[in-house]
Amino acid sequence: MASPFRIASLPGDGVGPEVMDATLAVLDAVAPLAGFVYEATSFSVGAGEYLRSGDPLPPGTFAAIQEYDAILLGAMGLPSVRWPNGVEMTPQIDLREKLDLYCGLRPIYLYHADDTPLKGYEAGGIDLLLVRESTEGLFSGRGEVRDPDADVVEDRMRITRRGADRIVRAAFRAAMKRRKHVTLVDKANVLPSMAFLRQVFDQVAAEFPDVATDRVYVDAAALYLVRRPESFDVMVTENMFGDILSDQCAALIGGMGMAPSADIGDRFAVFQPSHGSAPDIAGQGIANPVATVLSAAEMLDWFDTAASRAGASCIRAAVRKVFQDPGARTRDMGGKLSTQQMGAAIIAALAA
Ligand code: ATP
Repeated sequence: MASPFRIASLPGDGVGPEVMDATLAVLDAVAPLAGFVYEATSFSVGAGEYLRSGDPLPPGTFAAIQEYDAILLGAMGLPSVRWPNGVEMTPQIDLREKLDLYCGLRPIYLYHADDTPLKGYEAGGIDLLLVRESTEGLFSGRGEVRDPDADVVEDRMRITRRGADRIVRAAFRAAMKRRKHVTLVDKANVLPSMAFLRQVFDQVAAEFPDVATDRVYVDAAALYLVRRPESFDVMVTENMFGDILSDQCAALIGGMGMAPSADIGDRFAVFQPSHGSAPDIAGQGIANPVATVLSAAEMLDWFDTAASRAGASCIRAAVRKVFQDPGARTRDMGGKLSTQQMGAAIIAALAA
């Protein structure tokens, strides 16, 4: 028997523990069907951990989780728990930077025509991958301390050649496994940093002659996503543009509860839903667990064994099956299922 995948599970804050429980139940069910073995160890990280120990990501925990094959994360941060400078705790962003998880993969797939606000799109009619650079861009100055008396405050759009090259390459490699089309989303008509990103993109594109390319300004990309999302296969962009567009993309397929994500580096990877801790609905058992369940499927694909890839396919097929019933939805999507009931429906569909 192959050795088990070792997963560090970080349920976090708000709805994080609820969607994590549902997801681990799905993993428990799919593992024997697909033929892989896994073990998950839970760690306390987030605003709750800060209230307990004074540190949202204690050094011992940070060291321990690096010993695992992958990190599966629920959600982190609470509006009521802040640093003295007023900013929320975001250990999930710290992890991206500390573990150099430069490649944010946000797959966007429509499971049922009822779940998009756009007219005329059937299941699978919206199917794109947003690749978000996650270690630099407009987030690069986020740790700087602001002078409270300053009259001018500036943020920096930092694009390095290395950062641009590796994210663009990741996008082209992903496109090779999909429909072989990459769209660069930038603002090269206005910002020198974005013209530089486009220059690096053009250089890398030349190495992938089988992949077709487009270059689109970010404002136009926002428009095209609504008017003709089917024109996108893989989109690649800097950190902040990716942050904004990923929420817009989620809206096209049913909202934040449907949008999985993977943050991948050369050594480590963290898998988590695109949404935050949703404190407005936490503790009620009504959060949509599908984004986290689909993030676990991304993790299984990333493990890249025949059994884990089979597990990922089983999970996505089960979600597709569940969503064929228009009544099988959690409240954020107009239904009545609880978090636990949605998880159970997915598990039942796995076995069907
Ligand atoms: P962050 O900045 O940490 O990503 P956010 O401020 O964008 O978080 P979220 O926590 O993602 O906010 O919540 C945004 C809205 O989406 C809230 O109304 C929340 O209830 C809803 N929401 C988020 N996740 C889910 C979910 N899994 N199920 C149902 N509703 C959700």
